[in-house]
Amino acid sequence: MAFDPNSKIDTKCVQAGWQPKSGEPRVLPIYESTTFKYDTSADMAKLFDLEPGYMYTRLANPTSDIVASKIAALEGGVAAVLTSSGQAANFFSLINILQAGDHFISAATIYGGTFNLFNVTMRKLGIDVTFIDPRATEEEINAAFKDNTKAVFGETVANPSLDVLDIEKFAKAAHAHGVPLIIDNTFPTPINCRPFEWGADIVTHSTTKYMEGHASTIGGCVVDSGNFDWYQNDKFPCMTQPDESYHGSVYAKDFGKAGYITKIVAQQLRDFGSTPSPFNAFLLNLGLETLAVRMEKHCKNAQKVAEYLEKNDKISWVNYPGLKSCKDYEIARKYMPNGTCGVISFGVKGGRAKAEEFMNNLRLAAIVTHVADARTCVLHPASSTHRQLSDSELIECGVTADLVRFSVGIENADDIIADIQQALDKI
Ligand SMILES: *Cc1c(COP(=O)(O)O)cnc(C)c1O
Repeated sequence: MAFDPNSKIDTKCVQAGWQPKSGEPRVLPIYESTTFKYDTSADMAKLFDLEPGYMYTRLANPTSDIVASKIAALEGGVAAVLTSSGQAANFFSLINILQAGDHFISAATIYGGTFNLFNVTMRKLGIDVTFIDPRATEEEINAAFKDNTKAVFGETVANPSLDVLDIEKFAKAAHAHGVPLIIDNTFPTPINCRPFEWGADIVTHSTTKYMEGHASTIGGCVVDSGNFDWYQNDKFPCMTQPDESYHGSVYAKDFGKAGYITKIVAQQLRDFGSTPSPFNAFLLNLGLETLAVRMEKHCKNAQKVAEYLEKNDKISWVNYPGLKSCKDYEIARKYMPNGTCGVISFGVKGGRAKAEEFMNNLRLAAIVTHVADARTCVLHPASSTHRQLSDSELIECGVTADLVRFSVGIENADDIIADIQQALDKI
């Protein structure tokens, strides 16, 4: 009665990962233990040579590994690792293969926290970034490459601008220059888009959002497709040359297709320690079990809300990739035929002040920093998540001062619309 790895994605949500043997717990156990016991020192020593097994939860833990393997199955990847946050996942995805003196290219429309990480903190570490328009032409993307460019990064559906990335175009440019394409797939989740099917090499997630889905647990994940050939050029000695901090391990050779993820565990989790707690991994797994059902409802509800907003004369503009009027409607249909996500952005007539008044009037939709969970919530990015950005950086990120980010939950769509209506009636 083994789980069939060729199951459909909604079956994988429920069944992939934990596979109990006869007499074992039906539900994934929480291995809430920092450490693991061995009979002899020699047994333990093998683990320090990176043989499979567990020694210390900062590096790896069975509960977390089993949840990571479910996410790898959902994305169609060969290996995955959980991190304590989406920020850690994005940072590790890059620092795993870049160092001081290197450069990477990123779509400009990315999450505000990621933008700061790239634009401020990683520059301090000596890693340079060029931001480009997600709608850049092939020639414009190619022109951004330098001799020391080591990766290309983008978000499938950007938070909060909702720009949809042409993954195939970016993959083509990355591969023409012998570097991997890393895609943050947080908003669509693998239910709606699997970037590996379009040429992406590595996928990251803030599992904090739809994956966990209930706003209880911060978390992240990095997944490797196993498709990138680290030996095709001499850009990645970190993958193809011995790591002296791990007894001369050569990640791409000794661990094959799992090399990139093994390196995140052996170096990034070992040294930076951004490890999730096994309990949080357990909660993430519960969320993943219902992910397919929730995403369908989020998308259905958001479509109704977006269509309602578009017809309302107190709204100045609506951006939702499911609307025919949206600039990314066609490209969203190509990559996400079943829908994108539950997040809508729009402007209220009267600008920033009216937008804030509208938000204060909402009853069901709560003002929170969060996005993409079961409860409808709302945020004004320019005064919160993107507050640290200058006006020109805001425009580059696709965030206008009047932008309201509305995250449609899985309540009844009519109740959500009624709440918006009463809040608009008061302004
Ligand atoms: C929230 C978010 C992140 C950061 O994730 P945390 O879990 O909050 O650290 C990264 N990328 C995207 C697209 C996000 O929405």
